[in-house]
Amino acid sequence: MREIRAARGGVLRCKGWRQEGLLRMLENVLENGENPEQLVVYAALGKAARNWESYHAIVDCLKKLEENETLVVQSGKPIGILQTHASAPLVIMANCNLVGKWATSENFYALQEKGLIMWGGLTAGAWQYIGSQGVIQGTYEIFSAIARKHFHGDLSGRFILTAGLGGMGGAQPLAGVMANAAILCVEVDESRIDKRIQVGYLQKKTSSLDEALAWIEEAKAKKQSVSVGLVGNAATIYPKILQRGIIPDIVTDQTSAHDLLYGYIPEGYSMKDVGEARVQCPEKLIADARASIAKEVQAMLAFKRRGAVVFDNGNNIRTQAYQHGVSDAFEIDIFTEAFLRPLFCRAIGPFRWVALSGNPEDIHKIDQFILREFADNEIATNWIRLANQYIPFEGLPARIGWFGHGDRTRLALAVNRMVRDGTLSGPIAFSRDHLDAGAMTHPNIMTERMRDGSDAIADWPLLNAMLNCSSMADLVAIHSGGGGYTGYMTSAGVTVVADGTAAADERLRLSITNDTSLGVMRYADAGYSEALDEVEKKALAYIPLKTD
Ligand code: NAD
Repeated sequence: MREIRAARGGVLRCKGWRQEGLLRMLENVLENGENPEQLVVYAALGKAARNWESYHAIVDCLKKLEENETLVVQSGKPIGILQTHASAPLVIMANCNLVGKWATSENFYALQEKGLIMWGGLTAGAWQYIGSQGVIQGTYEIFSAIARKHFHGDLSGRFILTAGLGGMGGAQPLAGVMANAAILCVEVDESRIDKRIQVGYLQKKTSSLDEALAWIEEAKAKKQSVSVGLVGNAATIYPKILQRGIIPDIVTDQTSAHDLLYGYIPEGYSMKDVGEARVQCPEKLIADARASIAKEVQAMLAFKRRGAVVFDNGNNIRTQAYQHGVSDAFEIDIFTEAFLRPLFCRAIGPFRWVALSGNPEDIHKIDQFILREFADNEIATNWIRLANQYIPFEGLPARIGWFGHGDRTRLALAVNRMVRDGTLSGPIAFSRDHLDAGAMTHPNIMTERMRDGSDAIADWPLLNAMLNCSSMADLVAIHSGGGGYTGYMTSAGVTVVADGTAAADERLRLSITNDTSLGVMRYADAGYSEALDEVEKKALAYIPLKTD
């Protein structure tokens, strides 16, 4: 078993903290990954590097990289080091981009088999994954938005049914508990349940539906929160719960339904069966996975008709079911449009920072700073308090915080000053999820039903990446979907290392400000009043045309 652990402390292996920071970020995604031996970080196939040879070559390149050079990475493999200049990104990468007509999952699998391509997920291939914490505030904000919209602001006494406890889905039980709900998570692979219990994200485990439902009922009656992991297949369990006439208050799913070959496990298959079927009869496995998804989605639709709040949490489950003949699958809402778009209009989204020293105190000091200096930012301060109470660190200590335009830059510059004056014990890396205002086109997730119909236009993430390169970011990535996401999405990622220098001030100021500016402009351009208001309030140089 190859075990990668991010370096800690103040000793540099590279020629500067910028390079060392990116190297630690790469190591950290594997330290937190679901299947590091295969370089898989999350979402069934989201990888950090194409293969181990590429991984070691990238590490060597980062160690010798000069400040005025740029490492070029193509689908997880280092291609070359080119002379640029000290303000240029140190690393640029393009992962999994296929031209339109070729962008099918069949082509992706064939190219992957030949070793020519790698899917980087969102944050895996761009070396930004920070464990389940990366997605947890998003999940919590969705639950909170549902609470506000449907349950008078409170989920106590409410039952959330979901599935999937993998790299991202593993955040669901803790987010549910943080929102005071009773949450049941169906997971087919018992070892994933054990992992979430071990890292403190899940409370209870059972293989009995009766026992699971009894725990949920008890918690509901006492208005107490509880998280239960049930070993089982969602395609079997959801219809069973429905047959018993039990209607949860909220229903979703975060299995890897986007990938029928490596992700979703069909009914009747053990983990071992799936491994064999992948090699011996992949077509049958794909067909069975799609049939099971269709069954699960039909149950979700029935829950919705009987009053549950049902939503797709960004795993293409509706798309897969639709392709299997569930013609009303899209009656299920997508979480972005239903709950988060007003935040994205103001470029409020999943911003994150990582203590490269490995010292948790650095994160706690930043927490205290946020509580003091951003006291009027309710989303951020509420989260920081909850995170302190509930979130265990995984890998390098890190924090996620949904900050918007202006606030992200203010925070990053303040942190850079804290690095400079020695308040913090080492540099901090700033990045964000690719699922961010100006950084993702995904017509079935991020950009579904955009007001102006611009759902499938992928110019925005490409512009975002070019803008971040022009704005001196340290790492810039352009990703497209792999597996079942092939042809469905393009996104951009960015990382900047706050090493306390004046040059870092400039890099953070330009790249973070321009990143969020473009996000607000993307929604302003689509005609969202919240974004147009933000343009005016923050005096952004958006150019509205008379014809718009
Ligand atoms: P993962 O592959 O690490 O985990 C998926 C889990 O689902 C695994 O533990 C697997 O055993 C389980 N599973 C598969 N089939 C099942 C079935 N039929 N019944 C019960 N459990 C089953 O994936 P992940 O990183 O947790 O991501 C899950 C999905 O969420 C992916 O599609 C990913 O792209 C998506 N995602 C959404 C967001 C968001 O912002 N909403 C963010 C990240 C990822």
